[in-house]
Amino acid sequence: MQTDILSPSSGHIELAAAALRRGQLVAMPTETVYGLAGHGLDTAAVAQIFAVKERPHFNPLILHLAPAIPLEKLQGWLLDLAEFTPAARERLESLCTTFWPGPLTLVLPKSAVVPDLVSSGLPTVALRVPAHPVAQALLQAVQMPLAAPSANRFGRISPTSAQAVYAELSGRIPYILDGGNCSVGLESTVLKLSPEGIPTLLRPGGIPVETLEAHLGLRIRLPADWANASTHSEGLESPGQLRSHYAPNKPLFLLPARVLQLQPADWQPIQSQVSGHAHVGILGFARDPEKLLERLQPHFAEAILHLELLDPDPSLAAPSLFDRLRHLDEGSATLLLAEPPPLRQGLGHAIMDRLRRASTPWNPPPP
Ligand code: AMP
Ligand code: MG
Repeated sequence: MQTDILSPSSGHIELAAAALRRGQLVAMPTETVYGLAGHGLDTAAVAQIFAVKERPHFNPLILHLAPAIPLEKLQGWLLDLAEFTPAARERLESLCTTFWPGPLTLVLPKSAVVPDLVSSGLPTVALRVPAHPVAQALLQAVQMPLAAPSANRFGRISPTSAQAVYAELSGRIPYILDGGNCSVGLESTVLKLSPEGIPTLLRPGGIPVETLEAHLGLRIRLPADWANASTHSEGLESPGQLRSHYAPNKPLFLLPARVLQLQPADWQPIQSQVSGHAHVGILGFARDPEKLLERLQPHFAEAILHLELLDPDPSLAAPSLFDRLRHLDEGSATLLLAEPPPLRQGLGHAIMDRLRRASTPWNPPPP
C-alpha cells in the first residue's frame, strides 16, 4: 500500500474523512502526538488499528470526539452514567468544560454502543476532545468518534511529526495528514472518574496533575505504584501501564541523577554498562552542552559521545522529547543514556514516566 502525506487542505480532510467512513485508517495530528485514527464504532476498523500497530488486544483505545458535544448527548450515546451521583456528574461536567478540548482523557462507564474491542472488554471507555485544528476538522467531517492510539508500532517511540509517522507506518496506511509538529508532545493525561466522583490518575501526561488537583480542590489518587508497573497487564488498573513502552530500539539507561550531580561512586556501574560501545548517545536537560560534555568526557575516554539536549523547563522539553529520542535511535550510537528531568513538577512528572518506561533495567543496578 502506498502511504501519502497530505497537507491539511479542506479537500484532503474530505479525502481522509471518506477513507475513514469506508473503514480505512488515517494518521492525524493532535496536540499530544500523532494518532492512528479509525472509525471508533466499527469493529473491523478498530481491529485494523490493533493489527497495523501490532498492539496487544488487552490495551484499550481512546475515542476522540469533536468539540462541543454536550454531556447529555454522550450519556444517551457512548456513556452509561446511570450509577453516577449528582456530585460526580457535576465534577465530570466541570472537567469537560474546563479541559476539553485538550490533553485530558476521561475514563467513564461505557454504553453498549462502544465495541468491546475498543475498551478491551472493560466496562469503561476512554474519551478525549483533541485541541488540534486538523483533528477537529477531521472529526467534524466524519461525524463519528475516532479511535486513535499513537501512530507508532506498539511499544515504540510516539510520533510527533508526519515524517515520524511515515517512518513507523509507511506501507501500512493510505494517508497521513500533516499538521506540523505536535505542540504538547506527550500523550494525554488519563483520569478515571468513579460513580462517586473519585478521580484516579491512570497516566500522567499533557495536563499536569497539579493543574487537575487545583481545579478539583483535592488530591488525586495514584493507582498502586504505576511507575514501577510490571511487564504484563495483570492487576493493572489501566492496561497501558506497562513497564516497557515508548522505547527506542537501542538500550537506553536512565541515569540515577543528573550528570552534574552524579557522585564518584555512581560512575563505576555506568562505565561498566557502557564499556565496549564506541558511540554513546546522551539525552541531557541543559541549554548549553559545554558543562555536560566537560563532566562526561573523562568517564568515557574510549567512546564518541552524541549529545541531544532538551530544555530544563519541562513544558519546553516535552514537545521535543520523542523527537530527540528518535534522533538518537536513528544515529550511530549503540547505547543511550538519559538524564532524569531536573523538575518533577508539571510536565516533568510525565517526562520522567516516559523515560522510565523507555529505559532498560541496569545490570547490575546502580547503588
Ligand atoms: P494510547 O495508547 O496513547 O492511546 O493510550 C491509551 C491509554 O489509555 C492507555 O494507557 C490505556 O491503557 C488507557 N485506557 C484506555 N481505555 C481505558 C479504560 N477503559 N480503562 C483504563 N485505561 C484505559
Ligand atoms: Mg502509544
